[in-house]
Amino acid sequence: MDNDQVAAILDEIATLLELQGENPFRCQAYRNAARAIQQMEGRLSELVAAGKLTEIRGIGETLQEKITALVISGRLAFYDDLKSKIPTGLVEMLRIPAIGPKKVKALFDQLGIDDLVKLKQACEEGRVASLKGFGAKTQQKILEGIAFLGQAGDRVRLDQAEAVANSLLEGLRGCAGIIRLEVCGSLRRRKEIIRDIDILASSKDARPVMKCFVSLPGVSQVIGQGDTKSSIVIDKGVVDGRRFVINADLRVVDDDQFPFALNYFTGSKEHNVAIRGRAQSYGLKLNEYELVGAKGPVRCRDEGDIYRALDMDYVPPELRENTGEVEAAVAHRLPKLIEKQDILGTFHCHTNWSDGSASLEEMAMAARKLGLQYLGIADHSQSLKMANGLTPERVHQQQAEIDQLNSRMSDFTIFKGTECDILPDGQLDYPDDVLVSFDYVVASIHTHFNQTLEEMTARIVRAVSHPRVTMLGHGTGRLVLRREPYKVDMEAVMKAAAKHGTRIEINAHPFRLDIDWLACKRAKSLGVGLVINPDAHATQEIAHIGYGVDVARRGWLEKSDVLNTLPADQVAKALAAKKAGK
Ligand SMILES: [Zn+2]
Ligand SMILES: [Zn+2]
Repeated sequence: MDNDQVAAILDEIATLLELQGENPFRCQAYRNAARAIQQMEGRLSELVAAGKLTEIRGIGETLQEKITALVISGRLAFYDDLKSKIPTGLVEMLRIPAIGPKKVKALFDQLGIDDLVKLKQACEEGRVASLKGFGAKTQQKILEGIAFLGQAGDRVRLDQAEAVANSLLEGLRGCAGIIRLEVCGSLRRRKEIIRDIDILASSKDARPVMKCFVSLPGVSQVIGQGDTKSSIVIDKGVVDGRRFVINADLRVVDDDQFPFALNYFTGSKEHNVAIRGRAQSYGLKLNEYELVGAKGPVRCRDEGDIYRALDMDYVPPELRENTGEVEAAVAHRLPKLIEKQDILGTFHCHTNWSDGSASLEEMAMAARKLGLQYLGIADHSQSLKMANGLTPERVHQQQAEIDQLNSRMSDFTIFKGTECDILPDGQLDYPDDVLVSFDYVVASIHTHFNQTLEEMTARIVRAVSHPRVTMLGHGTGRLVLRREPYKVDMEAVMKAAAKHGTRIEINAHPFRLDIDWLACKRAKSLGVGLVINPDAHATQEIAHIGYGVDVARRGWLEKSDVLNTLPADQVAKALAAKKAGK
């Protein structure tokens, strides 16, 4: 088993132990170990071979034995035993935001509820409200949670789908006879939530390719194996408290059909309909196999040829939602979309001064290694005690450390920032004399999510109108597949941001992706500047910037719309100008 698989099982063990009512510290030990393994650089198997597992923070002797067993044999009796004792339905119940392991255990022990169906029924009959520690309010929240899961069921985040797809592609590259290979569907369009993975290959002989696909490592179940299409299920168990199951389909076509199939299976359906309509107006018929007219088929070597045949510019997959891209491609007015390599630095990153795991220097070195010219530090502010927010005195100390690091580097700049809490009334968490010591300020909400629409809107508008605020962090507070945005009138927030020259962040952490692509499009049209930030809490999370670029591309953004495409010296000037109120 590789690092990710072992981490997933340790995480699941923690969940199962919680459901058993185990001591919280013991459960946390498994979670910590899972996190440490996810964040380590090398391979577990090498550490096991060298007998150096205990060098990882948080891994003692008991865990060492279990991890060794998993790495070497892929099995662990302790885990199998635990799994057999706990109904899988209980794990599913944990996905409801309103209830944790204690409540799930109580529901099971006292009412015999072991899946979502029984839970829903019990709530509807009012039996849950009468349990000790529950009440009518919790019962209602559980029902709402089940309804939310119904909408969120069987979907995974972009980063999760991408990881699975990459390992499938890597496996397929080892199969003989494949000519072209590409991911299509919503993953190719870089949507933030993915329902299934679609892979397309071209080959002279589909059968051996299919055989190879269904026997790839990690396949949990084969749903179908045919000559043109095969379907498999990947079940990763419980990850971050959610069941992680996804279907993957492989289609194999002749190589000359590949561009048409790629275009068709990339979608979206709405885009396809529009393109087919355009083809019809040229007397052509477009489907997943060919583009054909009265004079026979039109030869296309790639997707670009298809669009060219219809007198259109090539439409990047991220734009294919039929929200104006077809008309723009016809008029040759598509935006020149921002690209990953346009990003030269970033602003919203945490260190171990607050709740990050790496030091200032480690974060800076990691950013430089990624080819960035600068890194903005934005640790939490004083009122966020849970995240070890910085008192003004510690702000001062951290800034001295940044000055020292900067004086030692000629090719890299660390900017001094803060992720300053927006207090419930819209005031900031530091007084002005502290705020002025930063190069920039990210203002974010971390508390009091349940305010009314009016309160929340006034709160954020007040913050983005503050002269010291450079940018708004994770603007709607949504967590992908986990938490709805708070009630806020983003239109009013964006107008205030435009008026005061305050930027809005695209939080690129794949758990957040906030603001989303539709909001990006709106922000741009209102004249709001954007900035792509990873909200990194560890060195390897800096690379999450890429998911923010995906959102930006879906939102039609170009390089000039995004602050951190500027080189370090120009960014320094832009930050200083904003600070001076220009
Ligand atoms: Zn935050
Ligand atoms: Zn943050």
